Amino acid sequence: MGGRYNRGGDKKNPMNDKWLLCDFHIHSNMSDGALPVNEIVDLYGEKGFDVISITDHVLDRVSLKEEKQKGEPCPNVEKEEFGEYLKLLWREKARAWKEYNLLLIPGAELTNNWKKYHILAVDIKEWIDPTLPVKEIVDCIHSQNAIAIACHPHHKPNEGPQPHIHLWRNQRKYRDIFDAWEIANRDDLFNVIGLKRFNYVANSDFHELRHLYSWKSLILAEKNEEAVKDAIRSNRYVAVYLFRENKESLG
Ligand code: ZN
Ligand code: ZN
Repeated sequence: MGGRYNRGGDKKNPMNDKWLLCDFHIHSNMSDGALPVNEIVDLYGEKGFDVISITDHVLDRVSLKEEKQKGEPCPNVEKEEFGEYLKLLWREKARAWKEYNLLLIPGAELTNNWKKYHILAVDIKEWIDPTLPVKEIVDCIHSQNAIAIACHPHHKPNEGPQPHIHLWRNQRKYRDIFDAWEIANRDDLFNVIGLKRFNYVANSDFHELRHLYSWKSLILAEKNEEAVKDAIRSNRYVAVYLFRENKESLG
């Protein structure tokens, strides 16, 4: 006998297994972050993280042109720089693994400020144009066997109305094309993602040191790219975790 609430049988408690402490949304000084990639690796490595993705901004062509015309600084990884950016991440990936047993997965935040959507590509291998429509971007991400995550999809209580709301407004259309949606971004929780039962992850959107103390994901998987990506896709063993370390660090 024994129904679905039977405590015995073949059900094992996943809390007894090793969960990976993960952050899939981190900016370095290759775009608008404060720290160089090597310092980010040292920081997360020393804090005992298992998996990180560095996801610098790649900006859409329309916004890029507008910003340049205004003479504004435009910190993002441009198309011509993308190869060098990936090489830097691969070098640091090798060092992170050797020195800290930290898995660094190369990524990018495909940043469309023109049509108002930001999309993470985790395990990206080639430049993707953020000017493309959402569906085409996600198709490009998937053709590289990378993961597509919808960033900060709803209004942020800490920052007020969120301009980048396109993905949420079109949630019916986009719900299933993304591998996951951010249920938490830095200090903000988006309970609607849980209510709608979307696949989720939680990330820091790290730009500077104090952002380390923020929402993160715990994932039950082997520590390698394919297993971590599968765990995000199946979204069965993903937990949201507020990383604080100690009270003094809250600043
Ligand atoms: Zn963003
Ligand atoms: Zn970001």
